Amino acid sequence: MALLPDLGRPPEIPASAMATAMALLETGRLHRYGEVAGTGGLVAQLERAFARLMGRSYAVAVNSCGAALFLALRAAGVRPGDPVLMNAFTLGPVPGALDHAGARPVLVEITPDLTIDLDDLRAKAKASDARVLMLSHMRGHLCDLRALSALCCELGVSVIEDCAHTLGASWDGQQAGTFGLAGCFSFQSGKHVNTGEGGMLVTDDPDIAAQAILHSGSYMLYGQNGTVPPAEVMERWRGRCGNYSLRMSELVAALALPQLPLLSARVADWNASHDHIAARLAQAEGFLLPHRPKAESYAQSSLQFRLPGWPLEQMRAFVQAARAAGVWVKWFGSELPEGYSSNPAQWHGAQAAEVPRACQIQATLCDIRLPLGLSPQECDAVADTLIATASATRKAHHAPA
Ligand SMILES: *Cc1c(COP(=O)(O)O)cnc(C)c1O
Repeated sequence: MALLPDLGRPPEIPASAMATAMALLETGRLHRYGEVAGTGGLVAQLERAFARLMGRSYAVAVNSCGAALFLALRAAGVRPGDPVLMNAFTLGPVPGALDHAGARPVLVEITPDLTIDLDDLRAKAKASDARVLMLSHMRGHLCDLRALSALCCELGVSVIEDCAHTLGASWDGQQAGTFGLAGCFSFQSGKHVNTGEGGMLVTDDPDIAAQAILHSGSYMLYGQNGTVPPAEVMERWRGRCGNYSLRMSELVAALALPQLPLLSARVADWNASHDHIAARLAQAEGFLLPHRPKAESYAQSSLQFRLPGWPLEQMRAFVQAARAAGVWVKWFGSELPEGYSSNPAQWHGAQAAEVPRACQIQATLCDIRLPLGLSPQECDAVADTLIATASATRKAHHAPA
């Protein structure tokens, strides 16, 4: 049997990125803005390249996806105390962005396929009068984005997309991050572009872009940004947006730029590993994999599965045994938030009682990260370990006393 791979291995930094970063370090000009003559403008280049990649007018580079989500909420007009809808399957930085903006989260149910429940969205939007939906494409699962867009249009709700797991994914041929008012991306090491930390906000709306640029901390040097709204729009917002110091540094852009052209090869690599392991698990007793609709083209750097009907004790035993066997399984049902998984009961300001079904689904939901470059043998070794561990755990818990 092949050795188990290190599932935590981040995407490689290409040699060209290291060379650009070293050359930049020699200049010492790491801040994105230059007061006198402007700098090398790597962040500006990245903004232009990213806007082009997404087919949107504006890209604003910041220091994390969480910062981009916060800026999007601010720019969309969310003020302290305002209700904001959010699907109840996401990562801590998403409710964190609402908290940062002072918004009151209104949790929306999810389906067994881990996407937002549109019926519950309609009901919660009407009951709360919320004007904004923070839609997290958590772990890369896309809802029917055409149906969602039509519904939100009908309800008068603006959509902010959390695309931390969907760079390179699309619905019905249209890229995730281009359906809503703004799309927010992460360059954290576990995501599709690895710069350690980093984020990007894309939008077609010049007022959203202007506010995001000014709030991110442009020192009125926004003429050096890669994509800048017309002067009259910038004039409208100048002096009305506090400087929150959320900028991206030149060093981060140096690392990100050479990774953009690698994206489609990375997505193919991730999906091959994902589909291989998913197919194995789907055939094994007890495992339930989310259904992936035809219209969805995913970029799956992680894999989710459920063990429906398993009690908490048995879930906990499975997770511990899988880790001991060398596969780092994460679980969304644990009482305490742990690593990169958490659930509605653990988000500041959120009411888990609003989403009993989401809590029930997440109680038996597990997750593994997928590094790039897994061989078919390594994929089999991961699947074999999960299947054998589940089988042994089931026997141990069902065994007569
Ligand atoms: C990683 C992640 C974020 C936040 O990204 P940062 O760049 O670390 O702030 C937001 N949403 C989801 C679903 C994520 O996985």
